[in-house]
Amino acid sequence: MTPPVLYIVIPCYNEQAVLPITAPLFLGKLQQLAGQGKIAETSRILFVNDGSRDDTWQIIRDLAAQDEHYLGIAQSRNRGHQNAVLAGLMEAKDRCDITISIDCDGQDDINAMDAMVDEYLSGSEVVYGVRDNRDSDSFFKRTTAQGFYKFLSAMGAEVIYNHADYRLISARVLRELANFREVNLFLRGLVPLVGFKSSSVYYTRSERLAGESHYPLSKMLALAINGITSLSVKPLRLITSLGVAVALLSFLGVIWAVVTALRGHSVAGWASTTSIVCFISGVQLISLGILGEYVGKIYLEVKQRPRYIISERTWEDR
Ligand code: UDP
Ligand code: MG
Repeated sequence: MTPPVLYIVIPCYNEQAVLPITAPLFLGKLQQLAGQGKIAETSRILFVNDGSRDDTWQIIRDLAAQDEHYLGIAQSRNRGHQNAVLAGLMEAKDRCDITISIDCDGQDDINAMDAMVDEYLSGSEVVYGVRDNRDSDSFFKRTTAQGFYKFLSAMGAEVIYNHADYRLISARVLRELANFREVNLFLRGLVPLVGFKSSSVYYTRSERLAGESHYPLSKMLALAINGITSLSVKPLRLITSLGVAVALLSFLGVIWAVVTALRGHSVAGWASTTSIVCFISGVQLISLGILGEYVGKIYLEVKQRPRYIISERTWEDR
C-alpha cells in the first residue's frame, strides 16, 4: 500500500507572534512521518488565514515561498475558527487522503499525530484527539470548559468529551461532510454524525507558546449555544415540559385559593400575585428567547450563504 497523502490544516487568526515558532515544528513532524514511510512525501501543511489584521498572511506567504511543504489560503474576511477549519478541510479534501486539523498555537501536542496516522492505517476513518487532563488550564477555563461539555450533552448535543478540533479525518469522510450544508457550523458535533469507523488518541494539552487566546467566555458561550441549537431541539421540548409544570403548579394554586376562600380565611393578595406574575413572565420571556434562537437559525440557514470565501492561495501567487 502506498503511504497516504496528509494535509495538516491549520487555522490562523492574528497569530504573527506564534506562527514563526510553530510552523517549523509542524514541518519537522511532517518530515519525520514521511521519513518513516507513514505518509507520502507529497504531504503538505495548509495554513488558513482567517482574515487576520496583523502580518499573519505575509508570514504564511513567506513560508510558502521558502519551502514547498507549506501552503496557504486566505479567507476574504474573518469568519471564525469553525469556518476557517472547514475552508481548509474542503480545500484539502480533493488533494489528499487524510487531513489533520490543529490549532496553530502549539497547544495541541503534535506528537499525537503519529498515533493518529497509525489509527488511520489500521482502519479508522476519523481519529479524535482527546485531552487527557486539563492541568495546564486556569481553574476558570477548566470549570467553564467542563460545564460546556456537561451542558451540551444535557441539552442533547452529542460531542466527544474533551475533544476540540484536533482530529484526523479521511478524504472519504470529508466528501460526505461536504453534503452537510448547514451554515451554522459546529464541526465537533457534525463529524460524529457523518459516522464511519472512529477512534480516539489521548494527548496532553499545554499552554499557548505565544500570543493570546481568541476564546474568551463570551465566545465560548456563543459556541455552546450554537452547538446546542445546531444539533438538538431538546431546549424546545424543555419549554413544553416547563409549560406543563407551570400549568400544574398554577392548578394547585387555584385549588389552594378556593379552599382557603371557602374556609373563610382572607387570601394574602398582593405579594403572592406579584411573585407569580413575575415568575410566569420570566418563564415566558426565556421561552420566547429560545424559540427566537431557533427562528434565527432558520433565517440564517434558508439564505444559504457561502460558509467561506477564499480570496487568495499561495500556489497562485505571482
Ligand atoms: N482562530 C481562527 N479564527 C478566529 C479565532 C481563532 O482561525 O476567529 C484560530 C486561532 O488562530 C487558533 C485556533 O483558531 O489557531 C484556536 O484559537 P485560540 O488558540 O485563540 O483558542 P483557545 O485554544 O484558547 O481555545
Ligand atoms: Mg489555543
